[in-house]
Amino acid sequence: SEDPSFWKDHNVQVIIRLRPLSSSEISVQGHGKCVRQETCQTITWTGHLESRFTFDLVADETVSQEKMFKVAGLPMVDNCMGGYNSCMFAYGQTGSGKTHTMLGDIEGGTRRHSVNCGITPRVFEYLFSRIQKEKEARKEEKIKFACKCSFLEIYNEQILDLLDPSSTNLQIREDVKKGIYVENLKEIEVASARDMLQQLIQGAANRKVAATNMNRASSRSHSVFTCIIESKWESQGVTHHRFARLNLVDLAGSERQKSSGAEGERLKEATNINKSLSTLGLVIMNLVSLSNGKSLHVPYRDSKLTFLLQDSLGGNSKTIIIANISPSLCCSLETLSTLKFAQRAKFI
Ligand code: ADP
Ligand code: MG
Repeated sequence: SEDPSFWKDHNVQVIIRLRPLSSSEISVQGHGKCVRQETCQTITWTGHLESRFTFDLVADETVSQEKMFKVAGLPMVDNCMGGYNSCMFAYGQTGSGKTHTMLGDIEGGTRRHSVNCGITPRVFEYLFSRIQKEKEARKEEKIKFACKCSFLEIYNEQILDLLDPSSTNLQIREDVKKGIYVENLKEIEVASARDMLQQLIQGAANRKVAATNMNRASSRSHSVFTCIIESKWESQGVTHHRFARLNLVDLAGSERQKSSGAEGERLKEATNINKSLSTLGLVIMNLVSLSNGKSLHVPYRDSKLTFLLQDSLGGNSKTIIIANISPSLCCSLETLSTLKFAQRAKFI
């Protein structure tokens, strides 16, 4: 059904998204695949020692961008409108479809979605339509909304502001009132889905320039786009406030970063990428066992990414991981490794 009712039970959801074979994969390996979808929740890796995996959803290549939004994006916005933080991660090896899933074709604008438009621009449009509806429905409470956004990149455990690229090496701070925040990170006020998309496009362009200038692939950094939603209303003479963040994270490529032979900056980079992805895996795994009633130390502070997102992981927050895989035989081992990561995030 269209109703993503699986949210009712758990705060951590894991979706597998299979992309179609690319023409170059077909020319090298023909139409051979390393996975076989069994049901809308199970998938089998068909390499040596077949293994079967179960997830909240397995979306094959026929699943549209719109359907991905309905399943993964819409419930996150609804959660944020209720005043809770939410996080969406796109995980997977470089070329598996993370950016296609998160951004897709963003140049077309939001007004008339191109079929390839990804989850993020659809989230913006849905968010502002919900705000509009709420304003109309709650006129007598004088409800007011303020939306801001920020966009940053974590590369080599350093934070760069993508909306103000002259700001590099920003620091994460903790404050009793504000919680965890990035000091001096630009938060831009936006009044519409279009404004927000404009910031996203500008930040994505800045990210490309930064990668080129530093001579590295953007696949080796994480990007975090955050929508900040504040509301204020009056009821029975009392003013109420609500505050929520929606974090949309395009992770660094999960392919094993080779540290053998690497030296200096390349070695540090490889170590940091492996570290932040494995810390994320650990944090999510511990959150799953926390929600099962076990109490465990959650190592948020072991990486910039998890420290930054601490307030958005756990508690009443919702987390969704979209693990992107290629079905091609060429990617068999990386696909297995992604399925295993995703499985660990789901069960302990
Ligand atoms: P990543 O960000 O993980 O490196 P991309 O999103 O850039 O991967 O995807 C690699 C290529 O595959 C792109 O050309 C993209 O358009 C295409 N692609 C990925 N997922 C899909 C999909 N579900 N349907 C069609 N094309 C896709
Ligand atoms: Mg990408």
